Amino acid sequence: MRQVAIYGKGGIGKSTTTQNLTGALATMGKKILLVGCDPKADSTRMLLGGLNQKTVLDTLRSEGDESIELDKLIQPGFGGIKCVESGGPEPGVGCAGRGIITSIGLLENLGAYEDELDYVFYDVLGDVVCGGFAMPIREGKAQEIYIVASGELMAIYAANNICKGIQKYAKGGARLGGIICNSRNVDGERELLEAFAERLGSQLIHFVPRDNIVQRAEINRKVVIEFDPESQQAKEYMTLAQNIDNNELFVVPTPLDMEDLEAMMVEFGIIEV
Ligand code: ADP
Ligand code: MG
Repeated sequence: MRQVAIYGKGGIGKSTTTQNLTGALATMGKKILLVGCDPKADSTRMLLGGLNQKTVLDTLRSEGDESIELDKLIQPGFGGIKCVESGGPEPGVGCAGRGIITSIGLLENLGAYEDELDYVFYDVLGDVVCGGFAMPIREGKAQEIYIVASGELMAIYAANNICKGIQKYAKGGARLGGIICNSRNVDGERELLEAFAERLGSQLIHFVPRDNIVQRAEINRKVVIEFDPESQQAKEYMTLAQNIDNNELFVVPTPLDMEDLEAMMVEFGIIEV
């Protein structure tokens, strides 16, 4: 069983990419558990056909932890993917990262990881500043990390910070498996991200083009592979899935300092001087 966490700046496309990627892996016959680790609880919507899944924290609040059963926490989605949403505290109250800690602990206790799973995916919110969100890395829950980024400075800046987190918690066993480019159609984007990934000691695992079909599928509450399996974008997600399934390059990344990062952006014409 491979445990994989997907990180990246807010709004970069983590949940979209994770659902389309797991959807593609499921069509390849892989057995998958997907744990949404964002208090927004929007990590599984397209796999569940828009079903509003009750979060682990909400279920705990209403049922208490005595009588809780696995099938109250897990909903089967597209391709048989087992979907969980951790949830979060009421807005403005408490640490949002607690949802992850509680959920993973509960899933472990209830035996969710003992099935014959090929993959567990964690779709994790933005950065690793708060302890809760770093948890899948820190405690070695996820051995493999992929970072979603684009050619925009803030996306690369966030990706670099996440690499600092991976480096810091390297003893937990977590390794960077690669950068996923979710394109923003920035000039020179592919070359920039290839160079950035190489500087980290890693690789660009796939370049996912920006395509409106992603939004059309989203509005229809489907992943692209279900919505239009013959489309070019469906093929892109299949390639991403194959590249991850075949990946053998797992590293402790070497993050850049801010000056190097900016110099790289200038070199690739992203920032003009
Ligand atoms: P995150 O989970 O990182 O906060 P989301 O996955 O929710 O980000 O993505 C934000 C929005 O970007 C989504 O509503 C989705 O429609 C859009 N999006 C993501 N990836 C693509 C893409 N490759 N092409 C077009 N739109 C995309
Ligand atoms: Mg998200």
